[in-house]
Amino acid sequence: MNTMKKNPIIHLLSNTFNKILSIFNKFYYYYILGANFSYIIKKAIYNFGCIPFLGQGYYCPICEKHFRKFIEFSSSQHKFIICPRDGSRKRQRLIWLFLKKYTKLFKNSLKLLYVAPVYCFDTRFKKMKNIDYYSIDLFSSNAMYKMDLTKLKFKSKSFDAVICNHVLEHIEDDILAIKEIYRVLKIDGWALITVPIDIGLEKTFENKKIQTAQERLLFYGQKDHLRLYGKDFRERLDIVGFNVSQINFSEKLNNQSLSQCGLNEEEIIFYCKKNQ
Ligand SMILES: [Zn+2]
Repeated sequence: MNTMKKNPIIHLLSNTFNKILSIFNKFYYYYILGANFSYIIKKAIYNFGCIPFLGQGYYCPICEKHFRKFIEFSSSQHKFIICPRDGSRKRQRLIWLFLKKYTKLFKNSLKLLYVAPVYCFDTRFKKMKNIDYYSIDLFSSNAMYKMDLTKLKFKSKSFDAVICNHVLEHIEDDILAIKEIYRVLKIDGWALITVPIDIGLEKTFENKKIQTAQERLLFYGQKDHLRLYGKDFRERLDIVGFNVSQINFSEKLNNQSLSQCGLNEEEIIFYCKKNQ
């Protein structure tokens, strides 16, 4: 048993620093990360804003930096654990580890379509020389092309991979969007698709009478969601023709990785192959 006591001055300084850090944590979360800044401003903010968080104990696999803590914030429904250096969330760090372990995205030359880019992935993909990279978004100016996922302006069988995370729940005709992903993939191409799923729900819930932001928040959990996916989500991928592997990737990781990297243990990854 370790009987060494901490030096009281170091203990006091450490406590004071942690208190200041937790105040900064709130400020950083509310006023910086929530704002819709351009990438140039974001990059500058992240570069300096992450400095007080640097240290040992936590690790972000996307930016590959170590931290004394992540930015933590709890709402009534979610606990956000955000990387101070690139703004990545729990689910994004999990997906990144999956991509590294189970795909050739970081090795082979391939043409990638990324739907609705987020800063942490987008900035890394742009730097990868093995990727012929395309990003689309219907609204965000950070994407390379402004495009509707249900009406892609790309040729059939033109991409090796498509990444589409937490997008389909915002789209009126989500099956049409999945069909478009299937269409633009080459034979043997793959799509990594994730959506928020209520694991307690057998069948996806959607009702066209639910129209207002308040109703959507109440029934679907978010103001701009158009349905609440249940355990049957996979069927929407199956019927389009994908060969789907449904993977609870966190089960394949040890507890140390889960806590050190701050990963989402509930996120289900749908790895969808186009076989013909
Ligand atoms: Zn990071």
